[in-house]
Amino acid sequence: MSEVGSLYIISAPSGAGKTSLVAALLAQVPQLKLSVSHTTRAPRPGEQDGVNYHFVSQEDFQNLIAQTGFLEHAQVFDHFYGTSKAWVLEQLQQGQDVILEIDWQGARQVRQAYPQAVGIFILPPSKAALQERLQNRAQDSDEVIQKRMTQAVDEMSHYPEYDYVIINDDFQQALTELTSVLQARRLRLQVQAQKQAALLSSLVVS
Ligand code: 5GP
Repeated sequence: MSEVGSLYIISAPSGAGKTSLVAALLAQVPQLKLSVSHTTRAPRPGEQDGVNYHFVSQEDFQNLIAQTGFLEHAQVFDHFYGTSKAWVLEQLQQGQDVILEIDWQGARQVRQAYPQAVGIFILPPSKAALQERLQNRAQDSDEVIQKRMTQAVDEMSHYPEYDYVIINDDFQQALTELTSVLQARRLRLQVQAQKQAALLSSLVVS
């Protein structure tokens, strides 16, 4: 493939701080875009269609599957989520790096379709810290929090399938580490050979 952009998959259990880290990353790294997924779940207060997600009906979602419109799709807990194939490939072809904030099931499908994708897993510093973050998040019952913990442990069990693991204890430190991964990937010979083609060939002509 002739794309010059890199594809990043970022996964984490709910409560690990993934969304805030990705927002901070996008604010400081140029030529980087976040894929807006399609979902059948209802918007939460404050969420906007086309910004946080493309909120679609079950029927629209099934139609997109039938049209092979998704790079990956999965049922996560009680709802369906999918990544637009056309949008992602277009961005990569234009030289943009793209982030997919998706779960481990979607990550597996993306790796199969696009083996050069880079996987990054974000983990909390401890189970106790994760539980505390889940408790602080909403006034949910102990039962609901326990269910979220079980789901989080299930998601976390897939960290060995990723290329990079970042522990989000100190936010700034985790952000620096995340940025470092992207910056280092951008310096690979394969990427530089395409991005700096003219310079590189001019430098080695005597
Ligand atoms: P939430 O409903 O809380 O926004 O997201 C729930 C879970 O769905 C998160 O783990 C998130 O990473 C995952 N998710 C969001 N979008 C996608 C997607 O397009 N594909 C897949 N496979 N998972 C997604």
